[in-house]
Amino acid sequence: MTRVGVLGGGQLGRMLGLAGIPLGLEFRFYDPGAATPVAGIGRHERAAWTDDEALDDFAESVDVLTWEFENIPVATAERLARAVPTFPPPVALSVAQDRLGEKTRFGSLGIPTNAHADVQSAADLKAGIAAIGLPAVLKTRRMGYDGKGQQVLREAADGKALDAQAIFSDMGEVPCLLEAFVPFDREVSLVGVRTALGETRFYPLVENVHVRGILHTTTAPAPAVSTDVQSEAERHLSALMTDLNYVGVMAIEFFVKDGGLIANEVAPRVHNSGHWTQDGAVTSQFENHLRAGLGLPLGSTAARGTTVMLNLIGDVPEIGDVFADQGARLHLYDKEPRPGRKLGHVNVNGSDPAQVRSVIARIEAMMPEGAGPV
Ligand code: AMP
Repeated sequence: MTRVGVLGGGQLGRMLGLAGIPLGLEFRFYDPGAATPVAGIGRHERAAWTDDEALDDFAESVDVLTWEFENIPVATAERLARAVPTFPPPVALSVAQDRLGEKTRFGSLGIPTNAHADVQSAADLKAGIAAIGLPAVLKTRRMGYDGKGQQVLREAADGKALDAQAIFSDMGEVPCLLEAFVPFDREVSLVGVRTALGETRFYPLVENVHVRGILHTTTAPAPAVSTDVQSEAERHLSALMTDLNYVGVMAIEFFVKDGGLIANEVAPRVHNSGHWTQDGAVTSQFENHLRAGLGLPLGSTAARGTTVMLNLIGDVPEIGDVFADQGARLHLYDKEPRPGRKLGHVNVNGSDPAQVRSVIARIEAMMPEGAGPV
């Protein structure tokens, strides 16, 4: 039995395991935390990311390694990659962990992105605002997720200059990226998969709605996307995956403005905007990630009908209420409820997009009071 090691024991690890067990794979997870989502999916090694002895033992205990969590120290991934075949390549982590590195890589590959400036000090912030203008978004370069570690900067009502020092202090005086605010028409993302031999497949572009920086719904395929826009998105992701010699699933998020794509960020792993594939595509992103890493033929990425994925954040509805709607598929992550936390998702699939949306609206209306992003 092939033993797959996964760095991280969150919901993405759980869903990788749930996709891989029917393929005859065995899973082991490495996570410094409680990793409740993977309890029952595979053995959990609880140790620090810097515990070399535990890392080496873990590498010994698996045949192949991947990750589900993006903020693993790159040195940890590199150490493991020297000991056991690892996918994706750790360089992909180092690019995605730094918002500036990500934007620079977009630039060098001709992937359109918004104006941005490196901010290491209040003076840099002042210069960045002068160059980019307002509104703009200031984000920590590292460790941001789900809209955390970022703020929108707007013109003061009285027309006074913003207090760059106060804003930089508020961000914790850590390296930041200032970027132009994009008044987008909508947001879309593309999930693709690449094998070691360079074969790629892409799911259809999907439309994402974020609420307070956290993904709320994904509609797949995104309505009204021309084949030109789909091909353009595929070209961009393909360029990035080829450049990184990438193996596995990668996601890229775009703003759509006046019909054009503006790259926002990438994820070197399976992605929340690909969860719809579990119930709406021939092969799920989780299975294709594993197939790519194990050198197996990739599965079809074709969508079946329309799927809407709704994240269950902070709380979950009554299960019976969800199942009252035929066709709703529930995925819970076995996580302690906490305000603003992703606890599960619902996929609704069908041939009639309006009908699918109305089922999602009914389920949304059943969410307990106080649920949702904070
Ligand atoms: P991020 O963590 O960069 O993916 O940001 C989370 C969400 O915040 C995005 O999906 C957008 O909805 C919003 N956002 C981030 N950056 C910008 C921007 N430059 N302009 C407009 N909205 C943004």
